[in-house]
Amino acid sequence: MNLIPFAYLASTQELVDVADVPSGKDCQCVCPSCKIPLIAKKGMVKEWHFAHDSQFIDKEQTEPCDFSWAVAVKMMIKQLLMDGTEISLPDYHMELPSIGYKSTNQKVLITKPSRVKYSNPTLKEYGCDIILEVGGKKLGLIFFMSKKNTMDEQTIDPHLVGLIGVDINGFAYDETGKAINHLRAYLKLSIESHVRSKSWLYHARQRSVIEKELQRQRTLKNLELSRDARLGRNKALDTTVDKFQSSWFCVACKHSYQGENIGLNPCPKCNSHFYRKAV
Ligand SMILES: [Zn+2]
Ligand SMILES: [Zn+2]
Repeated sequence: MNLIPFAYLASTQELVDVADVPSGKDCQCVCPSCKIPLIAKKGMVKEWHFAHDSQFIDKEQTEPCDFSWAVAVKMMIKQLLMDGTEISLPDYHMELPSIGYKSTNQKVLITKPSRVKYSNPTLKEYGCDIILEVGGKKLGLIFFMSKKNTMDEQTIDPHLVGLIGVDINGFAYDETGKAINHLRAYLKLSIESHVRSKSWLYHARQRSVIEKELQRQRTLKNLELSRDARLGRNKALDTTVDKFQSSWFCVACKHSYQGENIGLNPCPKCNSHFYRKAV
């Protein structure tokens, strides 16, 4: 996957999709990096792409041009974001550190997936590739070439309400694994409507959501511990009091049920032991 999908129109320096220009030399495009004229190749086998016109490459030139698929895609995503107004964002779940309550690897929801309107896109601010303003707050986007799942919270600019990682390689193929021949249109659709290739690296709310959930679990764990302690005392009683089947009647719901003579024996209908009496 290293075929160039986008190039500059020689006349306007606008970044265009190979799908939107005539084939061959008629494309009138130049390489955004080395400015050499390009040839639009729209064949049946490979995905459509631009190639440098060898006629214009100097014999002395030994280094091949470094303009790549990824650089072209990053440029186009930036252009689309600068021109756009809407972006879809994925959900964000974070794993909780275990405090020994119930299962490990519990995940907590930080934010739901959403499609938001943005304004004032700006390039290269707060250590991000692009900043979008969403509801008056600054959302940062960072482009990367391989999966990046975490980000050190300390390194994130406090101006940001959130940070989204965009995996450029995720756009190499569509969701069915096929090469994409109208990549510009696909990228536009992806930005606006897909959560694919995007992931949250940080959300300003993540710390407080996790703290709150951990606090809740600590409380539940403590309740469980004190209940166990109580049941432990009952177990001790079991050795001294004979246990036998006993009939109970719930005054609240008029339900008769079987239980044991000791213990709480709550009514199975009301889940309460306050209204039961032995019969
Ligand atoms: Zn080039
Ligand atoms: Zn009852």
